Amino acid sequence: MRVLLVEDDEPVAESLTRGLGRYGFEVEWVRTGAAALRAEPSDLVLLDLGLPDMDGLDVCRELRARGDVPIIVISARADETDRVVGLEIGADDYVSKPFGVREVVARIRAVLRRVRPALAQPEPTQSSRLSIDRRARRVYVAGAEKSLTPKEYDLLAFLAEAPGAVFTREQIMEAVWDANWFGPTKTLDVHVGALRRKLGDAVAVETVRGVGFRLTLS
Ligand code: CA
Repeated sequence: MRVLLVEDDEPVAESLTRGLGRYGFEVEWVRTGAAALRAEPSDLVLLDLGLPDMDGLDVCRELRARGDVPIIVISARADETDRVVGLEIGADDYVSKPFGVREVVARIRAVLRRVRPALAQPEPTQSSRLSIDRRARRVYVAGAEKSLTPKEYDLLAFLAEAPGAVFTREQIMEAVWDANWFGPTKTLDVHVGALRRKLGDAVAVETVRGVGFRLTLS
């Protein structure tokens, strides 16, 4: 899943690139409107409006004239007009600065669910026995629904985005609980325990000592 990030503000771009990477997105970062219009096709565009070389709204208009790639406008402009114009000329959604990575990821997913249902429901969440219905937030093992609490669901959905990948405790706490987590992570162990109990051997939430957890599907 390739995201084209058009943003001239380096700290913002770096933290978004890093954050989105943790959620499995591959980010191509460009700093100007001209570079955005030259870039290889991507699955989604995150477009800042205040660019050094041209108005982001013109970039949006031009991208839309070329095709139907989903566009999410990101902007520090508080002006409501930008939001309305952005949406009118074909942006699919709008995020105001400052924002957290989780918010951007939620918007990306919502937009993809609307316009590209196939991309929003990645294959890896399906195994022969476990299936996750991300729209309905329901989980089934061998066709039987399992009742999870909201946080248990969030944890499973997060780990299942990249089966086999190891996530650190901090990454998981940040993604599932709160944007900046520096406290104890015992609550994570409690939730992992609950998932193991409720899902049986359909999935394995493995402890990677000294690092974190990894989910494998069976
Ligand atoms: Ca800018």
